[in-house]
Amino acid sequence: MELKITCIPGDGIGPEIVAEAKKVLDAVAAKYGHVIHYTDILMGGASIDAHGVPLTQEAVEAAKAADAVLMGSIGGDASTSPWYRLPPNLRPEAGLLAIRKELNLFANLRPAVLYDELVEACPLKAEIAAAGFDMMIMRELTGGLYFGERRTTEENGVRTAVDTLVYNEDEIRRIAVKGFEIARKRRGKVISVDKANVLDSSRLWRQVVEEVAKDYPEVTLQHMLVDNCAMQLVKDPAQFDVILTENMFGDILSDEASMVTGSIGMLASASLNDTKFGLYEPSHGSAPDIAGRDLANPIATVLSAAMMLRYSFDLDAEADAVEQAVKQVLKEGYRTSDIMSDGCRQVGCRQMGDLLAERI
Ligand code: NAD
Repeated sequence: MELKITCIPGDGIGPEIVAEAKKVLDAVAAKYGHVIHYTDILMGGASIDAHGVPLTQEAVEAAKAADAVLMGSIGGDASTSPWYRLPPNLRPEAGLLAIRKELNLFANLRPAVLYDELVEACPLKAEIAAAGFDMMIMRELTGGLYFGERRTTEENGVRTAVDTLVYNEDEIRRIAVKGFEIARKRRGKVISVDKANVLDSSRLWRQVVEEVAKDYPEVTLQHMLVDNCAMQLVKDPAQFDVILTENMFGDILSDEASMVTGSIGMLASASLNDTKFGLYEPSHGSAPDIAGRDLANPIATVLSAAMMLRYSFDLDAEADAVEQAVKQVLKEGYRTSDIMSDGCRQVGCRQMGDLLAERI
């Protein structure tokens, strides 16, 4: 198969971690007989330095011409970097918001996995952590409270602020379809999270999700109120497979779930549109404090590349091989500094990439 991948190395540790993910993808291509065509584009601070803007139209076109985009991370240290003395629409993060909009990425996927070998990093009680967990949070990314009308007014000296939470059934249906499709590739269980005891938007959400569920009889559907979900994530995270939810609930729950894993350098993410196209990136930032020192953990980016193989290219065996390589390297005791513990062997970013590629 021919894979056209546009890479955005970005800023800080971005170029280092993307280089290692490419190393692993190249090992996959060699083993399984694929050909990968890479195109690199600039975004964020790197694009500001070269072109004066965080994202050029040429870069957008190069991203659109690919089957998928693999990104490192963008941005710098806000207190010292000259990028943050620019107006907000010219700062690094504006490039990321613009590309998400240009590519119509409405579905955000964040897996939260607790690896047996990293169980000590989990802040939950030992008996809960011992059960392990492997969940996927599917968050609607382009609707809801963050995109509704908002205003602040003042009358008779009293200030009033209004935000509007709007969803139409098409917006709900397309993310629900993605959620069920992904559950079908996993353990076949969707927990849809809402606040249907209070909000109209949640009652519509629940109805539409139930309609979509009829097309997926092999997937089980359960509803959960968001306040209960926030509790269950720390009480019994093993019960979750796919969590399907709207924008603001997903924003909060995905951060909660990722903190419960305890290892920021291990967390992948993907943002998808209604085709097979997706943008894949680690959940962490550009870590300017360790950039250029071969200290970054490339595993989140490597696992993002595995998600790309699975969801944009339907290469499930290849994605399994990458995830297996990660487990194997952890089992053999290799760690980057961020996940280092007693008795393990510390390696740098490049060596971690080599070890993973060798185990494909
Ligand atoms: P961060 O995630 O970059 O770093 C937080 C801490 O975690 C740091 O101590 C860092 O060294 C460590 N860390 C992060 N990733 C690591 C990895 N792979 N290996 C080892 N250690 C790792 O968060 P921050 O410091 O708040 O943000 C730095 C910059 O990244 C900011 O400009 C921010 O806006 C940007 N950012 C970008 C994205 C993105 O591109 N999607 C996301 C979040 C933050």
